[in-house]
Amino acid sequence: MIINNSLDEVRKRENALSIIKNIVENNGRACLFDLTGLSGGFIASPSELSLLETYVGPAIFEDALQEVGIKHMGGEKVLALNRTSSGILATILTLVKKDSNVVHYLAKLPAHPSIPRSCNLVGANYFETDIFEEFTIPENTSLVVITGSTMDHQVIDEAEFKRIIQMAHERNIPVMVDDASGARLRTVVFNQPRACDLGADIAITSTDKLMPGPRGGLMAGRRDLIDEIKVKVNQFGLEAQPPLVLAMLNGIKNFNGENLVKSYNRKDQLSDLLDLKFNNFEKTPTGVMISPEGLAGEVNISHNLSDDDLAFIFSFILLKDYGIITIPAVGMPGASPTIRFDLSTRDAFNLNLKDLSKKIESSFDKLLDVIPNEEKCREIVFSF
Ligand SMILES: *Cc1c(COP(=O)(O)O)cnc(C)c1O
Repeated sequence: MIINNSLDEVRKRENALSIIKNIVENNGRACLFDLTGLSGGFIASPSELSLLETYVGPAIFEDALQEVGIKHMGGEKVLALNRTSSGILATILTLVKKDSNVVHYLAKLPAHPSIPRSCNLVGANYFETDIFEEFTIPENTSLVVITGSTMDHQVIDEAEFKRIIQMAHERNIPVMVDDASGARLRTVVFNQPRACDLGADIAITSTDKLMPGPRGGLMAGRRDLIDEIKVKVNQFGLEAQPPLVLAMLNGIKNFNGENLVKSYNRKDQLSDLLDLKFNNFEKTPTGVMISPEGLAGEVNISHNLSDDDLAFIFSFILLKDYGIITIPAVGMPGASPTIRFDLSTRDAFNLNLKDLSKKIESSFDKLLDVIPNEEKCREIVFSF
């Protein structure tokens, strides 16, 4: 095994960032292709930048974010956070009591790790399922969680979404929606309503997923709950700082749903090309992906690596040899090891898909070459 724990994940991430830095310095940013779907970005004018002072910044940009954020997310009030995970933590710290139950429904496991980790921190019992018929709300439940679109972009069925909110509200239990990518994917590509319009009490989105914003979290929902959560957010330093709020504001203003719809159409071409050589690539709404298990199924030589290890090594080969950035190499500890090639963000717009599929194929051939040699694999993942 190569990646055994969160510390290994932090180390591999540091190595991935060194590789990226090296490519930018030696070959230029144009030689990198960020296909994570989390393109980040920091849109700001010089006059806006000059207002980024500790107290002046929030006075201007937090106010502007209320209007723009509510338009994007619905709800009565929005709150800007350092990350989506921060918003999930703050909501659970505020609404969930020790020994109470939290139940979570999502289209497909696994849930984002910040949800079970936050429940663990407050001493709550956490249950999750991706089987709608098995979803129940036990006695002493303090929070119902719904994921709008999973880390691998599996989108919840709208009828199930509504039914779960109804079940929770019949018993006066608040509903938190993890809509990290869903706030755009569900609404723009699948024509679903915003989570708050479906009755969510709290919804949180990630401002760098499928939009040109910085990594950050934007929470929307009921004013009374947001006000309570905001207290915890400020007590524990989970809020977005003025530079982040400014870039979030401009990221949302510059969000263009057409790009999502275009990538929705282009992914079929990439999928057809990859299916000529592979069996286990799957389509996502805006690209293609291969799970660690799927990748292992493509490998028919003997080795001692875990499925996740294969995904990490593959992701590093794509990065080192072709400058293609995918999440397993750069992700935070606990991020999904699925390799996703997302076509919805800037670097993908002008990419020749035949060329991309060739690069994926030859990276895979290299993976087959190196996996019998575990030392070599370790070197690919950990040393630059
Ligand atoms: C990305 C993601 C998160 C966490 O976002 P961070 O910015 O890393 O905190 C939470 N839930 C889902 C479903 C996600 O895709």
